[in-house]
Amino acid sequence: MPTTPEPMPLPFSWAAQERHLVGLLSALIRLDTSNPPGHEIAVARRLSRELSPLGIAHTVLESAPGRANLVARLPGSGQEPPLMLLGHADVVGALPGQWTRPPFSGEVADGRVWGRGALDMKGQVAASLLVMQLIAAHRMRLRRDLLLVVTADEEAGSRLGAYWLWENHRSLVEAEFAFNEGGGQRFLTPGGPVYTVQVAEKGSARMRITARGPGGHASVPRSEAAVFTLAEALLRLRAFAPRSVLHPAAHRMLGILAELHPGTGAQAVERLLEAPTWAGANSLPIDPVLREFVVAGLHNTATPTLLSAGHRQNVVPVEASVVLDGRLLPGQSPEDWVAEVRKAVGDRVEVSLLHGRESRAVHDDPELLRVLGDTVAAHEPGARVLPYVNPASTDARAFPDTKVVGFFPSASDADVMRLIHAPDEHARITDLMFGGKCLLDAVLRLST
Ligand SMILES: [Zn+2]
Repeated sequence: MPTTPEPMPLPFSWAAQERHLVGLLSALIRLDTSNPPGHEIAVARRLSRELSPLGIAHTVLESAPGRANLVARLPGSGQEPPLMLLGHADVVGALPGQWTRPPFSGEVADGRVWGRGALDMKGQVAASLLVMQLIAAHRMRLRRDLLLVVTADEEAGSRLGAYWLWENHRSLVEAEFAFNEGGGQRFLTPGGPVYTVQVAEKGSARMRITARGPGGHASVPRSEAAVFTLAEALLRLRAFAPRSVLHPAAHRMLGILAELHPGTGAQAVERLLEAPTWAGANSLPIDPVLREFVVAGLHNTATPTLLSAGHRQNVVPVEASVVLDGRLLPGQSPEDWVAEVRKAVGDRVEVSLLHGRESRAVHDDPELLRVLGDTVAAHEPGARVLPYVNPASTDARAFPDTKVVGFFPSASDADVMRLIHAPDEHARITDLMFGGKCLLDAVLRLST
């Protein structure tokens, strides 16, 4: 399959594309779309100004005042169903005091674009737009329509964004494949570089553990106090080794990891494939961040987040509770996981489900993975893709019939991903360009 299907009719320079991409990302960061309140319409309007001069058909759909979703379509011949470039316009908030540069400055310095959303995910949105602009400007012929879908509300559950689009404007966003956030971290393994591709993501089970005990004056110590009971339950949770579930996506990931880690690494991975356990996953002799993906990809989890007890310094609280952020492998039910946690923490506390959502987002398509593997190898010799289960969730959850994969390769090693949702978030310009070129290449491989 040719990757550049036609002679480029316009003068072309990657340096000019880089200036355009950096300028656009910087402009998008300056539009504060912290969610809440979101106000994603500012981003939709800015993107509309980029699409109109090229005659690319698009529409801005508001799910609530100011909560806008943009859908653009570049028509292909219709031989194949559409391909979607998916992104979200909202960002998590930022506390300026924690940042060394103002979080919404979009400053360009040290070869980076700084600000909230640079990585999650206005950088990929800007690169996706660039891909569409290049294909339109150079009149490349595609076998399928190319969609650009930029949603609202991803950071707060996708209700006013991806879910709303799917429920209210399904015909506009139907596609065979979608390239979304959630993939592209680079790891250098003994067997060569790999780039992650999200092929599945976890569901959620938020729950609360509540302990009760006698109240009274705090001058009288009580060993049966609610806070002690809760603390004991939490220690049991820390020592709990949840059962392993070998999901097909994790199976494929482990097979590739075995190939990439000759010797003791491969042996440990193969033992895990035969008999997966919590301890086995936690002691894999591989890169610690990759190991975290393996652990999360084989287990349901429950992480304590919000603790509450007491209202006066000198009063023994009669109740103490903690919220657990539970994450579920695809196909696992929230109720079953709550029952397992209940068993683990013991019957002196109560465990209740606050909110649960089973994950059905599984898009482990071998042919698609082959195309993405060829793509990364064309941009970095010897590189491969590593399909994985994202422990967090994305807009992929809202598109059950589309093969949504996380794909935006970043040339830097995976530690830059620690800046997501963190102070001083920034994107390296070389990474943005690398991701944009890979995205363009993958779109052309699938569509020409
Ligand atoms: Zn995101």
